Amino acid sequence: MYNGYWERFTPEEIRQMKRIDWHDQEQIKRDAERQGPGERGQSFALPPDLEAQKDKLYKVNGFNALASDQISLNRSLSDIRHPNVIVPFHNEHLSTLLRTAASLINRAPRHLLREVLLVDDASTKEHAKAPYLDDLVERMFHGVVRVIHLPRRSGLITARLAGARRATSDVLIFIDSHCEAAVNYLPPLLEPIAFDKRTCVCPFIDVIDYENFQYRAQDEGARGAFDWEFFYKRLDLLPSDKANMPEPFASPVMAGGLFAISRDFFWELGGYDPELDIWGGEQYELSFKIWMCGGQMVDAPCSRIGHIYRKFAPFPNPRKDDFVAKVALRNVYFL
Ligand code: UDP
Ligand code: MN
Repeated sequence: MYNGYWERFTPEEIRQMKRIDWHDQEQIKRDAERQGPGERGQSFALPPDLEAQKDKLYKVNGFNALASDQISLNRSLSDIRHPNVIVPFHNEHLSTLLRTAASLINRAPRHLLREVLLVDDASTKEHAKAPYLDDLVERMFHGVVRVIHLPRRSGLITARLAGARRATSDVLIFIDSHCEAAVNYLPPLLEPIAFDKRTCVCPFIDVIDYENFQYRAQDEGARGAFDWEFFYKRLDLLPSDKANMPEPFASPVMAGGLFAISRDFFWELGGYDPELDIWGGEQYELSFKIWMCGGQMVDAPCSRIGHIYRKFAPFPNPRKDDFVAKVALRNVYFL
């Protein structure tokens, strides 16, 4: 089995480690203010008169060297290391959708979060349509939130894959569209991945009450599992997990809606099985692949995100299939 960072170091050793923040905040600030060709790593198009002259330098270099000459030697680059948060949604209510985005942004160190991608799985509600929602989030979140509209209802697996393909960050974070990220949720999701990019990290999922919106814990941690009908189950923590609290502990399967994973590792695993339709069971497929392909999965007690567990399912099943049974079957083949 893959030797994770907590097996190389004791929890006490990890707690004692000093982390140096190497960021040069002054330089980051100066870079953010720079104006000019190619600044922040943006593409640069030569003006028409120079465009005609670019061939000569192109031929000897194999790239557009004339464009290079127009760009400052000290140009700034945008910070693309940090997570894209991918939020698939189908007909999500507007205030719960926007609160999801606002809480993700407000409670993350600004320079650690690249972008929140709302992937609209062909919603039919007016507030989700282009350009209304696109303009609204632009005004509210100043470019940090972007909307991708899928042409037809394809389900959350396809929507997450579409978001993951657009993402440029090192880490992908997937979140449901009716969540609230709590205090400092982000760094504890990233740290185990920084130690080992084949670690997938889940936050604790708290409960946002569907009636009165109270935010409360469902418990203080559990390991994920499933029964013979492939219904998700929560098992007690191991005594060693409890003793190591609040260090991350291993969990066999994720709940599914909320997790962080390195983009490289996600694609190394082939992403999700693209045949998984609409909803459900995808957490088993990904969890099995993580553990069986050299990775590991942990829950991070210091990262907490609330989720509205609905009172009832309001959207009719657009197909006739029992999705979880189908996934179960595909997973049996996989195993
Ligand atoms: N979702 C989607 N397309 C679908 C079904 C669900 O984009 O066809 C989104 C949904 O809006 C939510 C996430 O996928 O953000 C998970 O779905 P849901 O919250 O209904 O699942 P639950 O949390 O009830 O398991
Ligand atoms: Mn949900």
